[in-house]
Amino acid sequence: MKIKHWITAAFLILILGVEAQPVKQYGQLSVKGNQLVSDKGEAVMLAGVSYGWHNWWPRFYNKSTVKWLAEDWHCDLVRAAMGVGPRGSYTDKPEWSTQLISEVIEGALENDLYVIIDWHSHELKTEEARRFFSDMAAKYGQHPHIIYEIFNEPVKDSWSDVKAYSIEIIKAIREKDPDNLILVGSPHWCQDLHLVADDPIVGYDNLMYTVHFYAATHKQSLRDRCNYALAKGIPLFVSESAGMEASGNGPIDHQEWQTWIDWMKSHQISWVTWSIADKNETCSMLKPEAASEGGWSEDQMKESGVKTRALLRAFRAE
Ligand code: MG
Repeated sequence: MKIKHWITAAFLILILGVEAQPVKQYGQLSVKGNQLVSDKGEAVMLAGVSYGWHNWWPRFYNKSTVKWLAEDWHCDLVRAAMGVGPRGSYTDKPEWSTQLISEVIEGALENDLYVIIDWHSHELKTEEARRFFSDMAAKYGQHPHIIYEIFNEPVKDSWSDVKAYSIEIIKAIREKDPDNLILVGSPHWCQDLHLVADDPIVGYDNLMYTVHFYAATHKQSLRDRCNYALAKGIPLFVSESAGMEASGNGPIDHQEWQTWIDWMKSHQISWVTWSIADKNETCSMLKPEAASEGGWSEDQMKESGVKTRALLRAFRAE
């Protein structure tokens, strides 16, 4: 390559590099009304991917995949889904689990990404969650990169029980970290936003409520609930989503997924796609031959991975 081309390349790397530094760009996030905003008070919409359950796909929980997702997939954020409940998860391997989650957190700090620390549980475990989030907030709460998701998907618990749990965990986090974003779940896999809208948590700042959708199952009726919540001033964050059925399987409904993408854009709502895993199911974005450290070619990715990467790159380029 000639000198002139080296200079052009260096310039491009400089420009693209600046573009790909979401935390430097937006800084400490906060919530104003129902909108996520930057440290300058401007509306922010983030997009990224979730890792799969750490207890089943630990091989992807390393700094190298975070770097790849930042540089090649153009993620603004990643979600570390710390499994709580199944055998081999945080419930009986807390130190190993925390270490794996920390690899992704440290990777996000090094690569200037936001990172969601996701308590990936389907049931209430208040004492364990309080201890875990208190430790995480003490260790990482000074970094603007950190977002806490305190209950992945309640299933059978009522909103009054989930609300009481959430307040306990919010208090524990706020003792150590006064300001970072906290994401709150709602009953029935984060679908009951109408219940949240009628009885939100009050007295704490920088809370948002999670919406989870799988576009081949969840359609306009869920968006109607979200619209109802937004109209009542409830801030929403799509911390898990994808194009297939809620089972994680079946064909991708591209049209409905696009309707969701357009809806999220119109409301500046951030989204995260599920998941970085290699299980034989539609929603796992990688094939078993995909390396544990990233560097994935298109033929090592499944349809949902190819599509998600394209969506993220298009979103960054807008
Ligand atoms: Mg903080």
